[in-house]
Amino acid sequence: MKRHTGQDRDITACWRPATRAVRGGTRRSEFGETSEALFLTSGYAYDCAADAAARFAGEQAGMTYSRLQNPTVEMLEQRIALMEGMEAARCTASGMAAMTAALLCQLKAGDHVVAGRAAFGSCRWLTDTLLPRFGVATTIVDGRDPDQWRAAIRPETKLFFFETPANPTLDIVDLAAVCGIAREAGVRTVVDNAFATPALQRPAEYGADIVAHSATKMMDGQGRVLAGAVCGSEDFILNELLPFTRNTGPTLSAFNAWVVLKGLETLDMRIRRQSESALKVARFLEGRVPTILYPALDSHKQHALAMQQMGNVGGTILALVLDGGRTQAHGLLDALELVDISNNIGDSRSLMTHPSSTTHSGLSADVREGMGVTEGMLRLNVGLEDPDDLIEDFDRALKTVGL
Ligand SMILES: *Cc1c(COP(=O)(O)O)cnc(C)c1O
Repeated sequence: MKRHTGQDRDITACWRPATRAVRGGTRRSEFGETSEALFLTSGYAYDCAADAAARFAGEQAGMTYSRLQNPTVEMLEQRIALMEGMEAARCTASGMAAMTAALLCQLKAGDHVVAGRAAFGSCRWLTDTLLPRFGVATTIVDGRDPDQWRAAIRPETKLFFFETPANPTLDIVDLAAVCGIAREAGVRTVVDNAFATPALQRPAEYGADIVAHSATKMMDGQGRVLAGAVCGSEDFILNELLPFTRNTGPTLSAFNAWVVLKGLETLDMRIRRQSESALKVARFLEGRVPTILYPALDSHKQHALAMQQMGNVGGTILALVLDGGRTQAHGLLDALELVDISNNIGDSRSLMTHPSSTTHSGLSADVREGMGVTEGMLRLNVGLEDPDDLIEDFDRALKTVGL
């Protein structure tokens, strides 16, 4: 068998990002399979009763039950931790399970959280509705302004929670500045890295304590399965996250973990190719629609910061804002023939949605408008199709709505 697999930390730590995404975490069974094995089992058998007791006591390495561990899921966890440059990771059944676990595992009544205003709708539900229900106060700030993060800190502030780029406004949070402010104040940061993925941006390099993911998006990358992950220090994962997830059970299925492992093998090339296409589509749209939000365009208000944090790549998502409100936005969606109307992102297919009537419809109009999700906004996930076919589709559809 090959000299090493993805298990040896001394070796994997020297690998460059693309290599980590293909080989990190791989552990071969006795058959020496090249592609990671899919272990569909809920339980594990022991050689003797004493072994079972020792494993439950934590005195013997090995697995006990797939709510707690599974070999396929573990390979994915090690790969994601390695890609993020963090000590450990645990996977969850969805991105929202990851966000919920990352927050609830370390918060208690009386704590205070500061969160970025522009965020995925369900993330805002966690900070605005769920946490206060359990006695955790939240302050919402404009994530783009480091001074607002600093000013929001109270003695009981425990966490900063944000995503960058944000869904769907493409607001950028200055990772170094905001993580620095948190460090200074003894506050932890939880960063949702779903949009950029570790292929483009590794928040731990800027001082983030915890990085959480919707692996449903670019990590799977082909619109097949839901998955999530939480990365952090070994101490945080073992002593704070695991007691929560083991007992509440937001476990990722082995099958879905296997699908994401396959997805990660092509993440680096997919995200670069899709971002290249996104830039081409964005440049075309820039001449045709009143506002286009895409980090790789010079016109993006935080262009320089975004390019520095994301390795000069803009990502696969862009947003456009039309003057004609919901009628014109829905009209454009309905006129597209190639681009699907779908609220998912990170797919290899180009998908477009109207956030205010879909992903962000659960928020009040005030909250929506406050984060910049207007009635004329559309969010586009640029897929792996030939960008010229996408441009032709937009060219034709825009004409039907008078643009
Ligand atoms: C999709 C998404 C989530 C939620 O992930 P699911 O896998 O759908 O549960 C969280 N944060 C961001 C930024 C997302 O885009």
